[in-house]
Amino acid sequence: MTAIRNIVILTGAGVSAESGIATFRGPGGLWEGHRVEDVCTPQALHRDPELVHRFYDERRAKLGEVEPNAAHRALARLDAEWTGELLLVTQNVDDLHERAGSKRLIHMHGELKSALCARCGDSGAWEESLPPGSVCGNCGAATLRPDIVFFGEMPYRMEEIERAISRADLFVSIGTSGAVYPAAGFVQTARYHGADTLEMNLDPSEGSGWFAESRRGPAGVLVPEWVDGLLAQA
Ligand code: NAD
Ligand code: ZN
Repeated sequence: MTAIRNIVILTGAGVSAESGIATFRGPGGLWEGHRVEDVCTPQALHRDPELVHRFYDERRAKLGEVEPNAAHRALARLDAEWTGELLLVTQNVDDLHERAGSKRLIHMHGELKSALCARCGDSGAWEESLPPGSVCGNCGAATLRPDIVFFGEMPYRMEEIERAISRADLFVSIGTSGAVYPAAGFVQTARYHGADTLEMNLDPSEGSGWFAESRRGPAGVLVPEWVDGLLAQA
C-alpha cells in the first residue's frame, strides 16, 4: 500500500444519528415526518414558504439540544493531527462537525445556521427563527430563505471538492445512503484518480459496491477506531 497523505472524507446524516438528529430517510422514507419533496425543493419553498421556513426553524432550534458524538470528535482530532492534506465534506446541515472542532470543512448542502438571500445571493450567519419575508442586510429585499441546497440546486464549492478528490490517496464515506448526487458519485471520481476507498455505514448503502472496503456498524464506534488506527500508522 502506498503511504497515505491526502484524505477526503464525506459524511452524511448517519454521522449525526447518534447525536439524536434524524436521518433523511427515516421510517417510511420521511424526514421528520415530511415527504422530502415537500420541504427540500425550490417548488415547495415557492408553494408553501411558511411550511418550509418552519421546518428548517425547527431543525435549527433542535441544534441547541444536541451535542457532537464520538464520530464528530474523532474526525476533529484527525483534522488537528493529520499533517497531510485533509478535507471533510459534509452533506449535513447541522453544525456538529464544527462544534467538535473540525476546521478543514465544507458544508456542500448549506447550513441551518445560515440565511441566503434569494435575490442577491448574499449569505450570512443566522441563529434565530427565519420567517418568510425576513430582510436581507445586503440588498434590503425581503427575500431571505434557509441556506439549504434543495434538490435541483447546485451544491456549494464543487470545484474545490473535485480538486481535493482528484488529489486524494484515500476517500472515506461515513453515514450516507449514497442516494443523493453529486455526492454519491465522489467515490467513482476518487477511484478514477487512483485513491483507496473506504465506507463506514450502519447498513449497506446504494454505493457500497464502489468501495474497496466497507465496514458495517455505528459511526460512533467505527470512526474512532479508524482514526486511532490511521494516526498510529502515521
Ligand atoms: P440518509 O438519511 O439518506 O442516509 C443516512 C445513512 O446513514 C443510511 O445509509 C443509514 O444506514 C446510515 N446510518 C444511520 N445511522 C447510522 C449510524 N449511527 N452510523 C453510521 N451510519 C448510520 O442521509 P444522507 O445520505 O446524508 O442524505 C443526504 C441528505 O440528507 C443531505 O442532503 C442532507 O443535507 C440531508 N440531511 C441532513 C441531516 C443533518 O444535517 N444531520 C439530517 C437529515 C438529512
Ligand atoms: Zn439580498
